[in-house]
Amino acid sequence: MSRVAYVNGTYQPLSEAVIHVEDRGFQFADGVYEVWSVFDGKLADFEGHMTRLVRSLTELRIAIPMTRGSLTQVLRETVRRNRVRDGIVYLQVTRGTARRDHPFPAEGTPPSVIVTSKSVSFAKAQAQAAKGVAVITQPDIRWGRCDIKTVGLLPNVLAKQAARDRGAYEAWMVDEMGLVTEGSSTNAWIVDKNGKLRTRDTQANILKGCTRTTLMALIAEHGLEVDERPFSVDDAKEAKEAFFTAAGAFVMPAISIDGVKIGDGKPGPIATRLRTEYLEKAKRDAV
Ligand code: PLP
Repeated sequence: MSRVAYVNGTYQPLSEAVIHVEDRGFQFADGVYEVWSVFDGKLADFEGHMTRLVRSLTELRIAIPMTRGSLTQVLRETVRRNRVRDGIVYLQVTRGTARRDHPFPAEGTPPSVIVTSKSVSFAKAQAQAAKGVAVITQPDIRWGRCDIKTVGLLPNVLAKQAARDRGAYEAWMVDEMGLVTEGSSTNAWIVDKNGKLRTRDTQANILKGCTRTTLMALIAEHGLEVDERPFSVDDAKEAKEAFFTAAGAFVMPAISIDGVKIGDGKPGPIATRLRTEYLEKAKRDAV
């Protein structure tokens, strides 16, 4: 079955869907995006991603392209037309099309909106999580507003490719102090050598992950605590467990960092349990 994309008001075969060569997303990475996991055709962590989208657009002074209701309908319709049961739906909004010039285009230039959706094998993801994955570290060379989910992802792409080149799944980025900021497309967590759950605070220059937020709520429901304190690469290598979170990856156990085995080199009990519980909650709350 051929895939379908929503582009600026119409649904088109993906192979024919195009945007203008002077779209500011293409020329300046002047746009933002969101990714929702899809379970049984429904969207997970719906409100969190929607709220962050509006925040990202507002921070960049890009107009909100349509009402929340209309956008919800477009997301759902794109999932439906692509017959996605389990997978993801991707939304990108850019500052629109205008003659190439750095300053913002004229007031009233409509933002561009594209939505795509694809199936992802849930069974394959579960098998990967059961085994755990390798992580490498890379210097964090990104700009100072990583709290905004922009499509300017070149440093993230380079970090992820470095991971692939070394047979790893994810790259954790490290600041000039030797502290882990986050993954190239995930938030980084450890259960430190004292048994404390730790992830970096979102006052730092990182993305406030929706999966992270939901997981925090789950952990609090269990009366457990998360220490939102930065950890170093050495802390991570000495940790009992390591894992990372994102839409699509959910909670993914890391079993090595730069080739150093974490714990006994198998997915840890806390990460494994949090993955199961996150998935139960995300599926239950999907809309
Ligand atoms: N950090 C970065 C840099 C990301 O790109 C992402 C997701 O794309 C995340 C963290 C995780 O965010 P979420 O849980 O909302 O998918």
